[in-house]
Amino acid sequence: MSDIALLPCVNAFLARDHGHYIDGRTTPSQGGGRIAVRNPANDQTIAHIADASERDVDQAVASARQGFNTWSRTAPAARAAVLFKLAELLEANREELAQLETLQSGKLIGMSRAFEVEQAAHFLRYYAGWATKITGQTITPSLPSFAGERYSAYTLREPIGVVVGIVPWNFATMIAIWKLASALTTGCSIIIKPSEFTPLTLLRIAELASEAGLPAGALNVLTGAGQVGKALIEHPDTDKVSFTGSVPTGIAVGQAAMGARLTRATLELGGKNAVAFLPDVSIDTAVNGIIEAGFLHSGQICAAGERFYVHRSRIDETLAALSQRLGQLKIGSPLDESTQFGPVANKPHQQKLAELFATARAEGSQIIHGGQVSSGPGCFVEPTVILASSASDTLLNQETFGPVATFLPYDNEDELLHLMNASPYGLSASVWTNDLGKAMRLIPEIQAGTLWVNMHTLLDPAVPFGGIKASGVGREFGSAFIDDFTELKSVMIRY
Ligand code: NAD
Repeated sequence: MSDIALLPCVNAFLARDHGHYIDGRTTPSQGGGRIAVRNPANDQTIAHIADASERDVDQAVASARQGFNTWSRTAPAARAAVLFKLAELLEANREELAQLETLQSGKLIGMSRAFEVEQAAHFLRYYAGWATKITGQTITPSLPSFAGERYSAYTLREPIGVVVGIVPWNFATMIAIWKLASALTTGCSIIIKPSEFTPLTLLRIAELASEAGLPAGALNVLTGAGQVGKALIEHPDTDKVSFTGSVPTGIAVGQAAMGARLTRATLELGGKNAVAFLPDVSIDTAVNGIIEAGFLHSGQICAAGERFYVHRSRIDETLAALSQRLGQLKIGSPLDESTQFGPVANKPHQQKLAELFATARAEGSQIIHGGQVSSGPGCFVEPTVILASSASDTLLNQETFGPVATFLPYDNEDELLHLMNASPYGLSASVWTNDLGKAMRLIPEIQAGTLWVNMHTLLDPAVPFGGIKASGVGREFGSAFIDDFTELKSVMIRY
C-alpha cells in the first residue's frame, strides 16, 4: 500500500498565507512572528502560521466581547441550530479535515477520519442538544417570615462571558470542538489558541462555523506559542479559561487565571493512569486490553494507561505475548491506510521519549520490547514495553504520553490498590476481571476521575470526564460542563 492522494483543497489550504480568524474572517497578524508547522511523518514544513502579537490579542478579545453581546442574546434553539449545522459541515468536509489533521499530527488517517471528524461531530451534536435544556431551579426560601411577608426565589444559569480555550496537540480537532461546543451552547463566545504544532484544522473549522451561521466574533482562533495563551488569560476583558494540556502548564495557567481577577479556570491535565489485570483474565484479553489502553494513537491520549499492574503469576506470559503482538504491527506513514502504528506528533516529544528510555536503562528498568527512537526522517518511536525494577522507577511515575507501557507485578489486592493510588495524579484507571463482584468492590477504592471496567480510553459525551488530584479541576461532557461555563445567579422576591 502507499499514501493516499491529498485532495486539491488540502494542498490549496496548506499554501495559504495563514493569519488568525477574528471577527468572522481570516485576519492577517499585526506584527507577530511566523511559526513553521511540520509533518511529523517526514519532518517537512507544510505551512507557516502567525505567532500572535499583543495587538492581535487585543483585537481578538474585542471581537469576542462583541460576539458575546450578540450570541448570548441569541435564542437557545437558534444557537443549537448553528451547532447542528456545523456538525453537518464537519462531516461534509471530513476528508479535507482528516488529511489536514494527519499532516499536522501524524495521526493515522483512519483515526483522523473516525475520531477527529466523525466523533467530533457526534460530540458537537450532543452539546448542541444542551442549548435548549439549560435551566435554573425554583426554591422556597427556608427562613420564617418576620411580619407576614412572603418570599420566593429562583436561580438562573447565565453564560460566563468571553472564554479562552487552550488546546494541546494530541487531539487538536476534537478537543477544540469540545471547547467551542461547551462555550457556544451555553451562550459564551470563545477565543481558541490551538497548539503551535497543530493549528491548521481549527483555522478551517472557524470558516465552517461562519458558513454554519455563527455570528462574527462568537468564535475566534488566535495562533501562536504558549505566551499567546498567557496573554489571553491575563487580558482584562476575558472571563474564563478552559485549558487542556500538561500538568506543569496547567498549574501555570491556573496561577495566571487566579492572579488575573480570579478568572474562572477549568483544567484538563495529564496523569499517570493505572491499569490493573486480576489473575482471572486470559492472556488474550490482557494483551488486547494493554494495546487498547496504552498504544492507541501511540499512547498520546491523556486517559491512556501508562502503569500496568499484572499478578506475579501471569507477568511473564503477558509480557511475552504482548511483545509478540507489538512486533507484528505495521509501522509507517500515517497517510497509508494499511499502517497500524505511526510517528509521534513532534520532534520535542520524540526527544523527550528518547530521554525517558535512557533514564529507564540507567535506573535498571528492563526494556522488554522496543525502547528506540528513529534517527531517520520522521518522529518515529518504537512501541515499548518496560518492566520496572521498583514502584519508584521514573517510568512508573512520570507521564510519557507516548507508546510506552511500564509494568510492575503485584502479589495481592491490598498491594494492588496501594500501587494504583500511590500517585499525585488521578485522571483515569481501569480494572480488568471476569469477577464483577470483585470489580464492584474495587471501584470505590480507586482514585480516578474516570474508572473503566474491562475497557479503557473510550470517552462518551454523555459521561462526565475530568481529573481528580493533580489531573485537573472541572469536568467536560454530560451536564457537568454547564456549571463551568455559566455563572449561577440567585434571585429572591419579597411580596
Ligand atoms: P502543553 O501543556 O505543553 O500545551 C498545551 C497548550 O498550552 C498549547 O496550546 C500551548 O501552546 C499552551 N501553553 C503553553 N504554555 C502556556 C502558558 N504559559 N499559558 C497558556 N498556555 C500555554 O501540552 P501538550 O504537550 O500540547 O499536550 C500534551 C499534554 O496534554 C499531556 O500532558 C496530556 O496528558 C495532556 N492532555 C490532557 C487531556 C485531558 O482532557 N485531561 C487531553 C489531552 C491532553
